[in-house]
Amino acid sequence: MAAIDMDCLLVANRGEIALRIIRACRRLGLRVVCAHSEADRDAAWLHLADQAICIGPAPAAKSYLNIPALLAAAEASGAGLIHPGYGFLSERPEFAEAVEAAGRRLVGPSASVMRMMGDKVEAKRAMIAAGVPCVPGPDSVLPDDPDAIGRIAAGIGYPVILKAAGGGGGRGMRVVRTESELADAFMVTRQEAGRFFGNADIYIEKFLERPRHVEIQVLADAHGHALWLGDRDCSMQRRHQKLIEEAPAPGIDRALIAEIGERCAASCRRIGYVGAGTFEFLYEDGQFYFIEMNTRIQVEHPVTEMVTGLDILAMQIDVARGKPLPITQDQVRSLGHAIECRINAEDPQSFAPSPGRITAMHVPGGPGIRMDTHVGAGSEIPASYDSMIGKIIAHGGDRDEALARARTALAEARVEGVSTNIPLHRQMLAEPGFSAGGVSIHHLEHWLETRK
Ligand code: ADP
Repeated sequence: MAAIDMDCLLVANRGEIALRIIRACRRLGLRVVCAHSEADRDAAWLHLADQAICIGPAPAAKSYLNIPALLAAAEASGAGLIHPGYGFLSERPEFAEAVEAAGRRLVGPSASVMRMMGDKVEAKRAMIAAGVPCVPGPDSVLPDDPDAIGRIAAGIGYPVILKAAGGGGGRGMRVVRTESELADAFMVTRQEAGRFFGNADIYIEKFLERPRHVEIQVLADAHGHALWLGDRDCSMQRRHQKLIEEAPAPGIDRALIAEIGERCAASCRRIGYVGAGTFEFLYEDGQFYFIEMNTRIQVEHPVTEMVTGLDILAMQIDVARGKPLPITQDQVRSLGHAIECRINAEDPQSFAPSPGRITAMHVPGGPGIRMDTHVGAGSEIPASYDSMIGKIIAHGGDRDEALARARTALAEARVEGVSTNIPLHRQMLAEPGFSAGGVSIHHLEHWLETRK
């Protein structure tokens, strides 16, 4: 067992975010150790780490979700810091607790803050207390009594949405349009919530018909300082999966965004939040409505890095090491516009995953273009994990320039040997609604329907 080294970081993740974490560690001069599964044994990013430790077989439950194996890798290497990335264990309070109990530090907020934000009803209550606007509806779970539920729904006004307090990944939600559907919908959602999330608590909100998804990036240190680093529009989604993200959100009053951003930063100070985080909102008819907070780095953080010029990953690691934020709110800049396209190894028509070996690949470049990818010619894409193989990010002086650069980059990008959604991105970037900006969260699915 090696001595605990706070200048050594264990990456408890894989793929492009593992590579992104390695790059941040290099920038900070930290030693970096990657935990990996047997399926990722030959992965290219491992060569960029100082050490690679195999923690188990391909299924995530036996490797990237295996807390004892990850802690054993930290012990063997001496890593004092553990970065969970996104997905996998990144929002599991029990992992945060285990890391702490092992005398190490997770790059993320405390287990108790993570637990509070993981319960959407508790999160909503905390946000209401902090003056962050939420979707209309009670800040408590629903009672069992059907009559009482009926009165609450009538008070909000139909349509309403039933949501699992412990839900995630777009599951455990049901829209109810009339009173006659309410009792059955409640029963089914409750059963699902118990089965999927081990928590049968259900809450109710007004269902917004045509909202946009707009989120605020925050970063807070352990000394009571919190910043908001700008906003992102992630409305281009399919089945609640984001495909294109941009910063800033087009066509929204900057003063309103600043007011919401300030409230997010204030609530971070209030709850003792430390680390990078995202407040997700629905935006409709000029109003913001909080839906949830993600207590981790997000896939789409690069669009914020491009417009602010900040290295959010390096800053996230530094605040986890106890360093104070190096800038104040008035030093946060936003320059131009950035658009990110998530490149998935999947069939562009059916969306079925397309694992296999990449035979040839061209990574686009040129002014304003950044591609974060962990794969290249010869890489094997395992079937066991998420199909995202990289992100193409385009920055420009304004939205039109960012769009033009994104189109050029997508025209240039080439991946052979597996199918990807690159052809779909080319079409989406040319689509008039998205080009105009400000589409709702249903836009992409409607467009995919008409395209058939
Ligand atoms: P999850 O944690 O499962 O992602 P969220 O609370 O973030 O759940 O909601 C996921 C998605 O469900 C939102 O992005 C939005 O598309 C839809 N949604 C959630 N709440 C509402 C609402 N009150 N009105 C309309 N759509 C909603």
